[in-house]
Formats: sequence, C-alpha cells, structure tokens
Amino acid sequence: MNAAGQRSLHDLGFSGLVEVLAASGVILHHAKSLWRALHRENALDLAARNFLPPLKRWIEQSVGEGKPFFLDAPEGVDEIHSSDGLTRKFLLRLNDGQVIETVLMGYDGRHTVCVSTQAGCAMGCVFCATGQMGFVRHLRPGEIVAQVLHARRILQQIQPGRHLRNLVMMGMGEPLHNIDAVMTALGIISDVRGIGIGPSKISVSTVGVVPGIQRMAAENSPFRLAVSLHGSTEEERSALVPASRRWPLETLIAACREYGTRTGRRIFFEWTLIAGKNDSPETAARLAKLLEGIDAHINLIPLNPTGGFSGMASGSGQAFQKILRAAGFPCTFRQRRGIDVAAGCGMLKAGKRAKCA
Ligand code: SAH
Ligand code: SF4
Repeated sequence: MNAAGQRSLHDLGFSGLVEVLAASGVILHHAKSLWRALHRENALDLAARNFLPPLKRWIEQSVGEGKPFFLDAPEGVDEIHSSDGLTRKFLLRLNDGQVIETVLMGYDGRHTVCVSTQAGCAMGCVFCATGQMGFVRHLRPGEIVAQVLHARRILQQIQPGRHLRNLVMMGMGEPLHNIDAVMTALGIISDVRGIGIGPSKISVSTVGVVPGIQRMAAENSPFRLAVSLHGSTEEERSALVPASRRWPLETLIAACREYGTRTGRRIFFEWTLIAGKNDSPETAARLAKLLEGIDAHINLIPLNPTGGFSGMASGSGQAFQKILRAAGFPCTFRQRRGIDVAAGCGMLKAGKRAKCA
C-alpha cells in the first residue's frame, strides 16, 4: 500500500493478479495479457495500450490516481557510469521520497543486476556504507521488481537484444530481514512468462539471518544462497558483523550445514578481506576447518573504501586463497566493479556519491 491506500500491481505474483481480476469478473486470459505487459514488455502506461475491452475497462476503473491500484515506477534521479563503461549505478526515488540504488553490470556480454531489498540496513556491519546509514524501511515486492524493470529498460536502450542474465541481492539491505517481500519479488522476477531470470541465476546474499536460511532450506528454495561470513571465530566475526551476536557463528554454520543436507545445494560464502582483521593464514586454516563437509564456494571480496570505516584492504589475499584451495574449496576473488562510482560491494549509500577509490 502507498500513502493513498492504493496497492501496487507490481506487488502481485501471478496468482495474486489472477485473483484480483477474477474478483471483478475478468478472466485468466486477460490476466496473462496484463502480466505480460507489466513484466515482459515493461509497460508503464497501461491506459495507452491496446488491450481487449474487458481488460481495458478494468484498467480504466482500477488503475491510476484515486483508484485502487498503481504501478511501481521509481523515478531515476541520477545515473552514474564507471569509467570503464561496464557498470551503471541508478539512484531511484520511491513514492515516499526514499532513494535507493540499483546497479547494472555487464561483462563478457552477460548482464547482472544488483538490487536493494531495504532502504538502509539494520545489521550495522562496520565496513559497509549501508550499515553505516542505519535502517530506514523494508522495500515492497513491487519496489524490488521495479528495480529490475528499470535496469532492463536501460539495457534495452544501450544494448538492444541483450537480456539480464543474473540477479544478485547484494545492494542496500539484508534480504532475509525482509524475506516475505523478497520471496514474492523473486517469484515474480523468475516467472518465465515475465522477466524470466532463472532461479539458478539469482543469488540471495545474507549476513546470516538464521531463521531465513532455515526457511529457504525448509521450502527447498531454488535460489542460490550466499552467506557473508567475514570471521572464523565468534570474536573475529562479531567485531565486524554485530548481527553475529544475535545469530552466533556456531548457530549459523549449523544452519548452513542443515541447508546443504536438506537441499543438496552449494553455499557461496562471502569474505571481505580486511588487513589485520581477518586475513591471516591462521584465519584461513580455521575457516577451512569450520566449513569442513559443507559444499562451499568461497568468494573473497577486496575491501572497498567507505567513509565510516578506517580498516584497510588486505595485501595477503592470494596466500589466504591458496590455503583454502589447498583444503579443497573452490575459492575465487570477486571482480572489482564500479569502484569509481561507489557501486562496489558495501559502497551503496543513497543520496551520496561516496568518494572515488
Ligand atoms: N546484506 C547482505 C547483502 C548486501 S551486502 C549481506 O550482507 O550479505 C553484499 C556483500 O557486500 C556482502 O558480502 C558484504 O559483506 C559485502 N560488503 C559490504 N561492505 C563492503 C565493503 N566496504 N567492501 C567490500 N565488501 C563489502
Ligand atoms: Fe547490511 Fe549487508 Fe551492509 Fe551488513 S553488509 S550492513 S547486512 S547490507
């Protein structure tokens, strides 16, 4: 609902849309046309489209100012391009004036969209710009979907014929703190009649919200799970990730083990390397021990600079990687993308252009 008490059509999954139309006597065929217009054709002006009369009438009566429904179409307030032209950061203003960030990355002809799931974040990781700004509010499903539609619209303009292949929930916010909206949005985004990004091309990145991981396991959720770990002992981790006090490392690893056993899926562990904090050979060896028996891929992220954290990027990433590989874990470095436009991991902070690296 927005302030005027209207519902967003973009908040509705396919069955929700079918139900809403059926309640007004509009049949399934028309629900399919509307779904296609919204999610495949990126329609923003439904009144201008050539629908069959029953759907046209429903739209006239139901969508727009003073009517029950509206469309989520955040206003692009700024668009910043990285110097290599491969990354674009969009600042999008939501209906209530909140500004969130969405990033479009293209390399090797493949395009990935990185979306926000909250305005701000409540988890307070010390090295993250979003954490430093604090929590503002959850996003609705439609506000998450609309970011993908916006990125796709831009992609069609700059590279016609290209499709979004991957989606990562690594923008502002903690997806599993807003899990209902996130799962509804992902259902919409992965629907083959609409946007159609395959579930195996979608990554949900969490700081380690254990109930969310347990729910993904119980539901055998088809999306990829990425867990931001950053510490191999409780002490090491809580110093960087305060949320670890709520869901301690031991509990988190147990939940990951359970997730792996129940779903048979690999887990991607993210590790932001910070000099002197979590980059020693001892830490790498402890991490390998901790993850023993889990089908794990470790993704090392070079620390990106943020205003509120004085820690330094690590110079011993290669040695760290070597130890994990020797222990049998696939271990890769995340490519540095968009650092000069503050679109790199943890640099998203609405309304501010963080200083260039
Ligand atoms: N809240 C989720 C997803 C958004 S953050 C999560 O924490 O997983 C996406 C990734 O960026 C996380 O792995 C996070 O630890 C990492 N990150 C945050 N700030 C960073 C920074 N300054 N430099 C490098 N990586 C950072
Ligand atoms: Fe939130 Fe993720 Fe940033 Fe931590 S790293 S503050 S969980 S967005």
